[in-house]
Amino acid sequence: MDSIGHLCEAFKGTYAGEAMDALQTLYSTIETETTAFCKENEIACGPGCGTCCEHFMPDITTTEARLVAAYLLFIKKDEALIEKVKESAGNTTGPCPLYCFNTPYHCSVYPSRPLICRLFGACANHDKNGNAVFRRCRYNVEKTMPEFLTLGGEVTVMQDYAYLLRSLDQESEEASMLGDAVSSQIEQLRFLASMLDLSDRPNPDDTPNPIAS
Ligand code: SF4
Ligand code: SF4
Repeated sequence: MDSIGHLCEAFKGTYAGEAMDALQTLYSTIETETTAFCKENEIACGPGCGTCCEHFMPDITTTEARLVAAYLLFIKKDEALIEKVKESAGNTTGPCPLYCFNTPYHCSVYPSRPLICRLFGACANHDKNGNAVFRRCRYNVEKTMPEFLTLGGEVTVMQDYAYLLRSLDQESEEASMLGDAVSSQIEQLRFLASMLDLSDRPNPDDTPNPIAS
């Protein structure tokens, strides 16, 4: 297996496969919308920047954790990295165990990265009055994005995407730190995979369209 499309196909017919498929569809929509938003507002990360991942441990849902765990187990197949994620359980402040200085986007699981990683520095928020605003990422010292924007009412904000994400999670309303959540899903997926025949599956193309780390 070497793509998320292939992962979804491999787990088709299981609760995990359906959830991965729904999450991938949501991520695709978000990718399209945030790419357009960033282009329209001249928002970009600094070249080679990945500083947010060094100071951050994402808080993620069960569905997000399952996709990251599946990517690690069946696409990366990197037991040392899996061990590193497990060792990060209990860490709430970062750095993220999936941060990798030597890759273009500094993320070891870039195609399966969680929602917050897709939106940080690339999306508007609601301010305390409910207005859509964009604030420059505090680590963007190169100033490759506007410092502050006030936006119209039609702009989709981070809270809207978070709501859509939560609507995919039927098992739990609670999000957890990435180290804890992914470690738990790794064990569950290993068990599920042992029940399935994952060989001879098709391998659809799944090229990521990156925006930010
Ligand atoms: S959001 Fe972009 S500019 Fe800000 S730290 Fe992350 S990669 Fe760098
Ligand atoms: S983008 Fe990747 S390395 Fe960075 S915080 Fe998210 S999962 Fe971790």
